[in-house]
Amino acid sequence: ALFEDGEGGPRDAGIDPASRPRQGDPRAVRRVGVIGGGTAGYLTALALRAKRPWLEVTLVEAKGIPIIGVGEATTPSMVPFLHHYLGIDPQELYEAVAPTWKLGIRFDWGGKPGGFMAPFDWGSNSVGVLGSLATQDDINAFTFQSLLMERDRAPVFRSGDDGRLSLMKHLPFAYHLDNARFVRYLTELAERRGVGHIDAKIDEVVLGADGWVDHLVTDGGERLDFDLYVDCSGFRSLLLGKALDSPYVSFADSLFTDRAVTAIVPHHGRIKPYTRATTMDAGWCWTIPTRDDDHVGYVHSSGFISVEEATAELQRLYPEAHTFRTVHFRSGRHEEAWIGNVMAIGNSYAFVEPLESSGLMMITLGILSLVGSLPGSWDEPCPRKVVNAALAKKWDEIRWFLAMHYRFNTRKDTDFWRACRADTDVSGLEALLEVFAGGAPLRFRDPVVRGFLESTAPTFYGLDGVDCLLLGQGHPTRLLPMTEPVDAWRARKAAADVLVDRALTAAEALAAFDQDPRLNAQLVGDPDSWVVRTGTNRLVSA
Ligand code: FAD
Repeated sequence: ALFEDGEGGPRDAGIDPASRPRQGDPRAVRRVGVIGGGTAGYLTALALRAKRPWLEVTLVEAKGIPIIGVGEATTPSMVPFLHHYLGIDPQELYEAVAPTWKLGIRFDWGGKPGGFMAPFDWGSNSVGVLGSLATQDDINAFTFQSLLMERDRAPVFRSGDDGRLSLMKHLPFAYHLDNARFVRYLTELAERRGVGHIDAKIDEVVLGADGWVDHLVTDGGERLDFDLYVDCSGFRSLLLGKALDSPYVSFADSLFTDRAVTAIVPHHGRIKPYTRATTMDAGWCWTIPTRDDDHVGYVHSSGFISVEEATAELQRLYPEAHTFRTVHFRSGRHEEAWIGNVMAIGNSYAFVEPLESSGLMMITLGILSLVGSLPGSWDEPCPRKVVNAALAKKWDEIRWFLAMHYRFNTRKDTDFWRACRADTDVSGLEALLEVFAGGAPLRFRDPVVRGFLESTAPTFYGLDGVDCLLLGQGHPTRLLPMTEPVDAWRARKAAADVLVDRALTAAEALAAFDQDPRLNAQLVGDPDSWVVRTGTNRLVSA
């Protein structure tokens, strides 16, 4: 014990009594107005109630202004965020929202005919990327999870007569959350947990002499006063962008898409355990399974294709598609997320594009930043600068990571993809790409080189993410030699295949979790589960 941290080390962003406001302090932070009722607004309001229970939290939304209504694929950090940080009972979530599982992303992308898997266990390299490339010329047998994805299975097995054995606690996974059901559930939960609610449109944001927000005025003429204003108004960016005029940093040089045509496609009970990303003529299409059907969206550039053409192309991919909708977006971030008594979370601050599902992940990171650093009084020091710098850096890293998807995708020879290959700005990646060209996988490079890359290159999902994306697409490199006989690799792969053969389909495994609450209890409660071990720290260090 003498060699361990005597005071228990860093703390989780739990309830911090030191940030409770003092009696009689006129600058105390007590009343919080969350403006916007999309995923960003509701998750923020719930987090503030969970971690700062003394705050009076009111969510203001204009029911007449619809939420964006997309944003259904998540990343693994959402699982501990919902169940540990917000304390949502998994069984309640399963009953109300009926999530499906995402073991990773399946990319119909790059030069290899079968595309490539980007499983969430990519950091484990459990079967081996070099052996996979050597024996089948793709990376799709590099981890256990990628083998499960190829066969549409989940790591849950029959055990005994009618029992089920789950290995879900050993493999990171995320949820697909049907957006309408998720927001409906969060709305109901917020009411139960004491979040106030006002249905009104904010017409005016009135600033004080110090440049801080003094109060809001609704379209009914009502004045609303808060100590802290959280701008969750979506792309309108009512407070941060419009009222406070925080400059906008566009990512349009790296990311050319700005619109999506979405639709619903029957899946006839075949639930895939992944999000699929399919290269299209002027962009790509997501396919996200819900329990009832697949939700799809053709993300494209309005400069290269019309809505009618995009709809027709989507219909060629999925002849049974119906319920088409068009969604507009822009890629970029504001210079700062937190100015004075306004913090923006969600699309009001930043958005890239749907590839790699960064939206909800970054919303949760914004929430952790606010909750973890909100002072009890505006007279106390407030770490806005560090929060702004850290969030901006993360968004810039995502920009560069996504830019690689466009710059190096050789699958289609259309005007859009030729433009992407020629013009996508990847200037932030120069050093990283140079190292990759000299030898890959990066995971086997010299530790000093790796260390330098990790501390200087904008990788966002780490070097394993870069390896997966570039090797998966067949991007040119000098492949490092195998360090074991190929038969050793084959033996490991054969053992993994035996397990995959016995795994349940994703639909069967989900049904098992619906029926047996012990499976979820074990996943979120066992000390050796990744959900417990990594918690929300995974987000901060991602
Ligand atoms: P919104 O949902 O737009 O909510 C804005 C709220 O503000 C609404 O309630 C509205 O009523 C209110 N409001 C606006 N103006 C006023 C006003 N004047 N007065 C009062 N209220 C007002 N993220 C992922 O993680 N995974 C994905 O798969 C994914 N896919 C996406 C696909 C597309 C095409 C797009 C565009 C985004 C996607 N995202 C995804 C991002 C994700 O959708 C958003 O980050 C998320 O839904 C949060 O949205 P929001 O709450 O910021 O804004």
